[in-house]
Amino acid sequence: MFWLRSIFYYSMTGLIALFIAALAGAAWGLGFVLIIMALSCLFHIVNLHRLHHWLKNPLLDNVPGGLLLWQEVFDQIYAEVRSQKKAKERLAGTLDRFLLAAEALPDGVVILDETDRIEWCNPASCEHLSLDRKLDMGQTITHLLRYPSLRDYLKEQDFSHPVIIRISRPTEQTLSAQVVPFDSTRKLLLSRDITQLERVQTVHRDFVANVSHELRTPLTVVGGFIETMIDMPASDAATRETHLQLMYEQTQRMQRLVEDLLTLSKLENGAQVREEDVDIVQLMQQLRTEANGLSQGRHNIEIGKLDRARLIGNRDELHSALGNLVSNAVRYTPPGGSITLGWEKRADAVYFCCRDTGIGISPEHLPRLTERFYRVDRGRSRNTGGTGLGLAIVKHILNRHQAQMLITSEPGKGSEFAVKFPAARVIE
Ligand code: ADP
Repeated sequence: MFWLRSIFYYSMTGLIALFIAALAGAAWGLGFVLIIMALSCLFHIVNLHRLHHWLKNPLLDNVPGGLLLWQEVFDQIYAEVRSQKKAKERLAGTLDRFLLAAEALPDGVVILDETDRIEWCNPASCEHLSLDRKLDMGQTITHLLRYPSLRDYLKEQDFSHPVIIRISRPTEQTLSAQVVPFDSTRKLLLSRDITQLERVQTVHRDFVANVSHELRTPLTVVGGFIETMIDMPASDAATRETHLQLMYEQTQRMQRLVEDLLTLSKLENGAQVREEDVDIVQLMQQLRTEANGLSQGRHNIEIGKLDRARLIGNRDELHSALGNLVSNAVRYTPPGGSITLGWEKRADAVYFCCRDTGIGISPEHLPRLTERFYRVDRGRSRNTGGTGLGLAIVKHILNRHQAQMLITSEPGKGSEFAVKFPAARVIE
């Protein structure tokens, strides 16, 4: 197109020149050509100057407009600059989104250049490695790190595995850091807070150790009795009877433990349960009857305040949780003591309460009572048939009912286990 137009313009000039030459003579024709050439040169010089001027500040808004051939040139420049601007905007948008995503990452990311100087880092890495985003840019990372293990890791240059960093202040924290080389010279230093993960692993390990220990003791006892009985003369029926009775008790203990473990596992799996309208008055009476059965007349068990109320929840789970609190009250209250149950509606919530005049609990134990296998007095718990899992089960069930357990206790005087249910669960 450009060439066609050029040929057309100059052919037209030639034709007109020939026409003038034919009419007025060759000198006039040549004069015309010279004038057109001079004007054409001037035109091109002016437009070249405008192009040169624009190139100093090549913005889309400044692209000059032109005439004739130059119109085509400037239009093409305009279209090219416009498409470049759009591509640049798209690229900048993508980069911005990448940066925002990297900033929002819970894991720390530090980009290091070939000499281990910080090129970029995200807020999480600053928090993990105590870096300052403004002051530390461009600094060599090994000069800034407070953790010797990480410094050594970076110096040794073996990045096939992560390094674990344990921090004790201001809070106990465990970090995992790993270097990932990229771009042949640069490196990414990634850091992750694995405190929670480690805690879960420790709890899991302790749990397995506790379960094994709890099962091993009764199994050893049963095994020991069986061994004795094998060598026992058949005539010794009385001893055999005693041994069988003791073995039965140990198997009962194992059975209780396995049942509690299954209950806990079911609760932890978080399976949804059917919610229903629970008749609290009837449940309270059932709890009292069961407590009397467990106490065998050794305690004075009564129901104090009993506001008429119904609750939305799972009856079996509520029975299991509140029953656990009542059975603990009976088990940890010496004979002659009293246990009072109550159900009270207040403005903000409804409260179940189980108060005893038992052995009580020292304040330092209170925060840990709902941990699995935590007991204040292991021997006493075992002698009264405890598995150490009761309150852990209670806590799970209450969580599922958005309820909260409140414990007040005084050693030697007694304890009160209250449960606060949200008002939204109460039916008037
Ligand atoms: P356990 O099977 O040992 O009773 P729980 O989880 O039910 O396990 O309770 C944990 C510990 O809390 C018990 O071992 C006991 O030391 C203490 N405890 C629970 N309830 C009472 C209570 N009413 N009075 C005194 N101590 C209690």
